[in-house]
Amino acid sequence: MAKIQMKTPLVEMDGDEMTRIMWKLIKENLLEPYIDLKTEYYDLGLKHRDETQDQVTIDAANATKRLGVAVKCATITPNATRVKEYNLHQMWKSPNGTIRAILDGTVFRTPIIVKGIEPVVTTWKKPITIARHAYGDVYRDVEMRIPGPGKVELVYTPEKGEEQRVLIHDFDEPGVVEGMHNLDASIESFARSCFSFGLQNKRDVWFASKDTISKIYDYRFKDIFQEIYNKEYKADFEKNGLTYFYTLIDDAVARIMKSEGGFVWTCKNYDGDVMSDMLSSAFGSLALMTSVLVSPHGYYEYEAAHGTVQRHYYRYLKGEETSTNSVATIFAWTGALRKRAELDGLKNLAAFADKLEKATLATIESGRMTGDLTRITKLPNPQKLSTEKFIKAIREELDKRM
Ligand code: NAP
Ligand code: MG
Repeated sequence: MAKIQMKTPLVEMDGDEMTRIMWKLIKENLLEPYIDLKTEYYDLGLKHRDETQDQVTIDAANATKRLGVAVKCATITPNATRVKEYNLHQMWKSPNGTIRAILDGTVFRTPIIVKGIEPVVTTWKKPITIARHAYGDVYRDVEMRIPGPGKVELVYTPEKGEEQRVLIHDFDEPGVVEGMHNLDASIESFARSCFSFGLQNKRDVWFASKDTISKIYDYRFKDIFQEIYNKEYKADFEKNGLTYFYTLIDDAVARIMKSEGGFVWTCKNYDGDVMSDMLSSAFGSLALMTSVLVSPHGYYEYEAAHGTVQRHYYRYLKGEETSTNSVATIFAWTGALRKRAELDGLKNLAAFADKLEKATLATIESGRMTGDLTRITKLPNPQKLSTEKFIKAIREELDKRM
């Protein structure tokens, strides 16, 4: 059979540890036999990041600006232990942080739904996507311990015009204060990313904050979302039978527990951090979660939501058998290939991405899965496969469909 042709290459960002092992297995077994795979390869493995003084991460992000679509393997964010382990020149920053700073945008995380792995919330029938704002609030705050009596104020000193002050608290005993900020431009691009994602994926968009209590700060988010929706998206949403819905965060949480899912839940930075962990565990597993960075300029970067699965890698290095779940990494590839197919008008490439996803889910539904899933599945007699045998089993399912 002739291989499927591509037009524009994908930006391929290789990574670390167990996910790097799976990356190669996926390419060799599930992609290269079927596709004339075109990629521009960047090795973001920690060793090569160190050798290039992290320039490779910057180059990979810039390549994504040029080519539009990237697929990324999980990478180590070094800490002190890693600096020793890899004998690093420096404690390099998080690659995801570096890439996000260059591309700007919002990360969307969506659970992969598969028969046999049931969400703990029984009403959830469709995936709920979390969109998390990735700038500001408590993540860029300044804090102060107040040792004793005294006045604390917020002071704005404008370049021109009069100073503004508000009293935070007149302390007569020790305490703490915190100052945080956000930017209209960042909130605007967040809103646009969320509405565009909703439109493209035909999903309603929910946004929630605490504007009844935070009457200026959170209210600004609410206002900007509504303004951008009305001006730029309302007509298209209505044409597609979609809605935008704003509510208080407490109300959102209560409703979500009774909903059937299927929408995009747009969260402020802290809410998104906390709620995405809750959602992924409630849906089943971090290894069944896709993640895509959507920039307001139209660039896309697909990855798995989990890390490099270090503990499994050390077992692999000792020659022990591992059973690491490759589903989220496979879906990073299919997501990127499908987007590339859409942009380049390549129907058979898009069809291939669909088939590979179906083959992956069919493998699990047939009872063949990795150890993280055998522990939680409702299917009778699940068979625990090794990392490699699971990928080989998917290949059998894929061949049936090709
Ligand atoms: P992790 O790699 O996500 O793994 C945490 C644990 O979750 C694993 O030890 C494993 O549990 C389970 N797990 C995660 N993914 C799995 C999979 N595909 N299949 C089976 N089990 C899976 O997080 P971490 O151990 O905290 O971090 C390891 C490294 O990854 C760190 O260096 C961190 O910097 C990096 N990281 C990178 C990214 C990214 O690039 N996007 C994100 C997060 C973390 P058991 O061991 O109990 O089986
Ligand atoms: Mg978190």
